[in-house]
Amino acid sequence: MRYQRSSALFAEAKKYIPGGVNSPVRAFKAVGGEPIFIKNAKGAYLHDEDGNAYVDYISSWGPLLFGHAHQPVLDAVIEKAKAGTSFGIPTEIETRLAELAVKMVPNIDKIRFVNSGTEACMSAVRLARGYTGKDKIIKFAGCYHGHSDSFLIQAGSGAVTFGSPNSPGVTQGTAKDTLLATYNNLDNVKELVAANKGEIAAIILEPVAGNMGCIIPTDEFIKGLRALCTQEGILLLFDEVMTGFRLAAGGAQEVLGIAADIVMFGKVIGGGLPVGAFAASAEIMAHLAPEGPVYQAGTLSGNPLAMSAGLAMLTEIDNNPEVFESLENKTAYLHKGIAEVLTERGIAHQINRFGSMISVHFCEEPVVDFASSAKGNNDSFKKYFHGMLDQGIYLPPSAFESYFLNDAISYTDLDKTIDAVRNCKL
Ligand SMILES: *Cc1c(COP(=O)(O)O)cnc(C)c1O
Repeated sequence: MRYQRSSALFAEAKKYIPGGVNSPVRAFKAVGGEPIFIKNAKGAYLHDEDGNAYVDYISSWGPLLFGHAHQPVLDAVIEKAKAGTSFGIPTEIETRLAELAVKMVPNIDKIRFVNSGTEACMSAVRLARGYTGKDKIIKFAGCYHGHSDSFLIQAGSGAVTFGSPNSPGVTQGTAKDTLLATYNNLDNVKELVAANKGEIAAIILEPVAGNMGCIIPTDEFIKGLRALCTQEGILLLFDEVMTGFRLAAGGAQEVLGIAADIVMFGKVIGGGLPVGAFAASAEIMAHLAPEGPVYQAGTLSGNPLAMSAGLAMLTEIDNNPEVFESLENKTAYLHKGIAEVLTERGIAHQINRFGSMISVHFCEEPVVDFASSAKGNNDSFKKYFHGMLDQGIYLPPSAFESYFLNDAISYTDLDKTIDAVRNCKL
């Protein structure tokens, strides 16, 4: 049996870990079946516990821009570990990574490191509230900003403009400060701002969304948000946990030509180790403890192993800027190949792509927001996912997730992937 050992390991994991996983998407609930367990990985390939190999299209959900076990990152981490793994006392490498990040990213003077994207977004919102003296935030349905309470919000009912909790354990009190808007709908945001005049601290969004499939912001929407925020004294927060150092060295801000007020990072900035960060102008960051009154802290924040992985990764990007064009070309090739096969086969589909982010939706209408993304045919997606997995192609196990290409993927791998789509029972 192809997945025998993974299946046994999953059964064992479920005895000790809720659902057998430490992050829900890994459990394959959206696609059915059982997760594979990974033994090791190198370059574009994952190897599972049963000895099967897969071309990997999630790249640890984004961080591994150059593929798995990239030598410069490995070398940096191994060397650093010999000097001790954690001190809780300042180290030079924190400054070196901060210096490089500030050089690469537009519109930021200072950066604070944390341990995850969740922590970065949670802290950025606190900073925005502390800076503006206002409580409410606007977020968009389908955008993911980690699992802190303020973001686990769904649309409220009827005439109310505020959201309601979408997980037990999130209080109504927290939910009332988060207003929910529709992505790519500027009028909707303007209405919310008008209805809550002078009360909104921040508008937070994924500048290119990747957590409802890959969704591209219209020019009108993203420029309109910037103008509205400036006009109303609202801070514009770009959650670049996914897009930062992936769409370009300067992330979505650079590619879209829009300056955000606070920018959040994760994924690539840690090079595959747990790192998050948030950054802004010196003036805004001066409100953060210990310089200012907005409290934020972390025992393992700026951990030397994590910083060394991040520094090696950003240095690789800084030294090899052509990686973005290479990734873009590969993703465009994949896009064209999959589209041709699905069209030949007469299967209704939409493919959204921006840089090295891409998603395939089994539906007729363009996918521009959460509602249109949710219309995708999930039965087709399940068959597609498992059909690809059985042929050695690892795709995100949910129709709401974008693929993240890594540059270790070769054109041979891409052709193999396109062939697999041709041979998939759909
Ligand atoms: C992954 C992600 C997060 C959360 O990061 P974690 O490190 O998983 O906490 C936040 N925002 C976006 C856009 C993400 O893609």
